[in-house]
Amino acid sequence: MKSSLRSRFLLLLACIAVLGGVAGYRFYAWYSGEIVNILGQRFAERNVLYEKSRVLGMVTREVTLVQKMADSQRLRDWAAVESSPERKHQALVELEEYRRVLRDRSYFFAHAASGNYYFNNENGSHDINAPRYTLDSANPKDAWFYLTLRDVKDTQLNVDTDRKTGLTKVWINSVVRGNEGEAVAVAGSGVDITDFIKAVVSSDLPGVTNILMDRGGAIQGHPDVSMIDFASARKAAGKEAQQTVLELLDSPEERESVRRAMTALVDGRSDVEMLDLIVQGQRQLVGMAWFPEIQWFVLTMTSPTGASANTRLLPAVIWLITALVLALLAAMLILQRTVIRRVIRLDRAARDLSEGRRTEIAADPLDDELGRLGRTFGTMAERIASHTEDLERQVAERTEMLEQAAHTDFLTGVMNRRGMLLRLEAERHRLAHTGGFLALMLVDVDRFKHINDTWGHALGDQALIAVASVLQNSVRDYDLVARWGGEEFMVALFGLTKFDQLRVVADKLLGAIRQNRLDCGEAQLDLTYSIGAVMAAPQADLDAIVQRADEALYRAKADGRDRAVLDCLMLDQPACGQQQCCNEDNPCPAAVKQAGF
Ligand code: GH3
Ligand code: MG
Ligand code: MG
Repeated sequence: MKSSLRSRFLLLLACIAVLGGVAGYRFYAWYSGEIVNILGQRFAERNVLYEKSRVLGMVTREVTLVQKMADSQRLRDWAAVESSPERKHQALVELEEYRRVLRDRSYFFAHAASGNYYFNNENGSHDINAPRYTLDSANPKDAWFYLTLRDVKDTQLNVDTDRKTGLTKVWINSVVRGNEGEAVAVAGSGVDITDFIKAVVSSDLPGVTNILMDRGGAIQGHPDVSMIDFASARKAAGKEAQQTVLELLDSPEERESVRRAMTALVDGRSDVEMLDLIVQGQRQLVGMAWFPEIQWFVLTMTSPTGASANTRLLPAVIWLITALVLALLAAMLILQRTVIRRVIRLDRAARDLSEGRRTEIAADPLDDELGRLGRTFGTMAERIASHTEDLERQVAERTEMLEQAAHTDFLTGVMNRRGMLLRLEAERHRLAHTGGFLALMLVDVDRFKHINDTWGHALGDQALIAVASVLQNSVRDYDLVARWGGEEFMVALFGLTKFDQLRVVADKLLGAIRQNRLDCGEAQLDLTYSIGAVMAAPQADLDAIVQRADEALYRAKADGRDRAVLDCLMLDQPACGQQQCCNEDNPCPAAVKQAGF
């Protein structure tokens, strides 16, 4: 294929369009991913803090109330002397007052010494004056009480999920201390956080999953209830496998990173940890926060990029690529108008010029590089054209001159023998059609050697010029005169129809030279010549005619010069010619007839 500027530009622009489109799309995909990542991270961070504040808001008030309750003088008095009915009464009144303002409408109060566990809630179905039951340090179920007394300085929150009812409660256990600071009892209340958990996990935002998990990673709240590990506390003792968040992760590295994040949060080194994980085969941006109050983590998992973000960006990408293609097409169009079309015009003009055709380049009105180039090229082409024309004319002139010179006698200016022979050939053909005889006369200057010898060659040349001029002026325009060689001339007459006419012309020629006296300084020179003339059929052999004329000339010389001897040569009349049947005395008109003229 012929390479062209246009196709190369088209290819270049197509490449730019494709590369630009691909690069644009990749950039868009990457950038949108980045934005979604950043926004997702922000969102997860805020969300996790928001959920944390929600649970704290709910729990803090209860914790404060419970602490206040545990610090109450009446409760401390009763704890000091459990058996005092007075103190017991005062304390129970006080507990009832707290119960009314506590969210759960319930309280418990357990004595360290006796293990007596008092409890009341909204039902009020049993006697509040009697302990509900007595705690036993040997019973693992009651371990929480003895651990609280031993380890907790002030208040501790315990989360307890009842598998049967599906209710989750946060138990707020506050230690009641005696005058010496010894732990004498534990007072507390519960906060039902079932609804809270539900609210947290049932996020209605698409692609967002909230999970609550305990310190061991056991799932406590999940939108999919089957994921929740109800008996986590019991299982923590190592009996059964737990349903942990870590099991949702495929790679050990990711499990490790979750563990590290959990430790960092629990140690208080950060408030929120952000992780990029593959959870159950799906990429998730995970925000983690720690609730020290309930010893739980909240995890907000956001599906960051995914198809949705890219699909939403697809129209933008299509717009971008369309705009790019349109911009490139516009660029191509402008390029086509401002450069390519003009270059093509120049290219065509240059090709025409190089192939020798005349080229016309339309004036380029723009005053830029191409415009100037076009104008310069136009001027150049014009110059070349006129130069070429000039050269061609000169060559034609010279050729004509040379041709003329080749056929012309340089001294006398009449034709030379070569020119005469060429013309004779052409004229003989013409004569064959128009009719008439061809007559050739050989004219030889008499005693020319003597002239040369007497007066010099220069005068001899003058004499030759004079003879040529006399001959030329004595015949009709369409007759021919040539210098046949030396001082010998040839005269060709065309269209004679009668032998007598040849005599008339011969006499005319003889008379003309006699009258032409050549001036040679002190004297005047009389010039004469002798003529051998032959009248012939135009079809006759030229050499034969010339031969016959030469013979006639010889006779003229022999007869005394300054005269003409006439002869004729006809076709199919060899006897006539040989017997000189058509000479002056016997012009042989029959022969003329027989020749078919
Ligand atoms: P005739 O009457 O028998 O023809 O005698 P002629 O002297 O003319 O005959 P010849 O043929 O012997 O002489 C011709 C002379 O013409 C010889 C030659 O030197 C001379 N001649 C031939 N060409 C030229 C020429 O161009 N210039 C001059 N000046 N002389 C020439
Ligand atoms: Mg001669
Ligand atoms: Mg002579």
